Amino acid sequence: MIDLELLQHAVMDSRDGISIADAREIDTPLIFVNPAFERMTGYNYDDAVGRNCRFLQGGAIDARQRGVMRAAVAQGEGFSEVLANYRKDGTLFWNELSVSPIHDENGAVTHYIGFQKDVTQRVLLDEQLRARNRDLESAKRALEELVTLDALTGVYNRRHFDSRLNTLWKISTRAAESMAIFFIDIDHFKAYNDHFGHQKGDEALIDVAQTLAESFQRGSDFLARYGGEEFVVVACGMDRQPAGHFADDLCRRVRDLALRNPNAPSGRLTISVGYTVVTPQPGMAADAAIKRADEALFAAKDAGRNCARSAPAPVPTVAVAERRQRASLDS
Ligand code: GH3
Ligand code: MG
Ligand code: MG
Repeated sequence: MIDLELLQHAVMDSRDGISIADAREIDTPLIFVNPAFERMTGYNYDDAVGRNCRFLQGGAIDARQRGVMRAAVAQGEGFSEVLANYRKDGTLFWNELSVSPIHDENGAVTHYIGFQKDVTQRVLLDEQLRARNRDLESAKRALEELVTLDALTGVYNRRHFDSRLNTLWKISTRAAESMAIFFIDIDHFKAYNDHFGHQKGDEALIDVAQTLAESFQRGSDFLARYGGEEFVVVACGMDRQPAGHFADDLCRRVRDLALRNPNAPSGRLTISVGYTVVTPQPGMAADAAIKRADEALFAAKDAGRNCARSAPAPVPTVAVAERRQRASLDS
């Protein structure tokens, strides 16, 4: 058996607080605390002995931790918890408390021995790290928005449109589902800027973007600012006829904004829309569909603006190659 004097030195010289509570007495009072306990808590031996150790909690204890401690005591088992404790001078410290029961020969708990470690530095550092992580997360989200959203109108930007269209194109190819692509250009917008100034022009761009966004029928519909006063809408699963109605509806909604454009023939701010409806297939590129929608937009401008025009879907390059081959066989 180890020398008792050595054991006493170990307890008295320990850097961690050590306390012993008597479980046979009412309210399990402390019957011993070592010098490290005194240093850590600011309570000296006489302050502490005779009281239940909960006085360190300053009247407030986390409900979960109370449950853990009560359950352990009821089972005659030990527990480990990091508790918010208060020193004699009222300052908070974080106490990593580990409690073990001591049993008599009949298995009844006679004492609890507690080891206290001041882990305040570690807890504060953890809190700082968590706060920094939260800051980083929100900075990351803000950055993601910057990368994907157009700063003026708040709708998606061209860069995000390109990557999103690619993804939607692949999904629609696999699902053999139709997709409608609408190119939208504000009519006589230079005249609007010239008349009202660039600032008002910016405000009109925001209004138009908002109006286009409000016209969406499905969550998968997708609007982006493609360039200066040009927007693009992609509607997955939309067929020819609804696409025609949708394009007309876009024109009507912007017209109904009733923004004056005195130097335009209609006297109002209007848009032209070019669209194509396509079922993406292997051998067909998204760029070809974009080109078709753009050509249709030119046709709408040619037709006098403030209207929508469509262009046929592009032909898969594989089909083109097959047709050429057949033509050369025929000749
Ligand atoms: P069209 O009917 O043929 O489309 O005529 P338009 O005047 O709209 O066409 P044009 O391409 O000549 O002019 C586009 C104008 O859009 C010119 C440019 O000053 C304006 N614009 C582009 N980006 C912005 C912007 O961010 N803010 C403002 N206020 N104006 C912009
Ligand atoms: Mg333009
Ligand atoms: Mg224009």
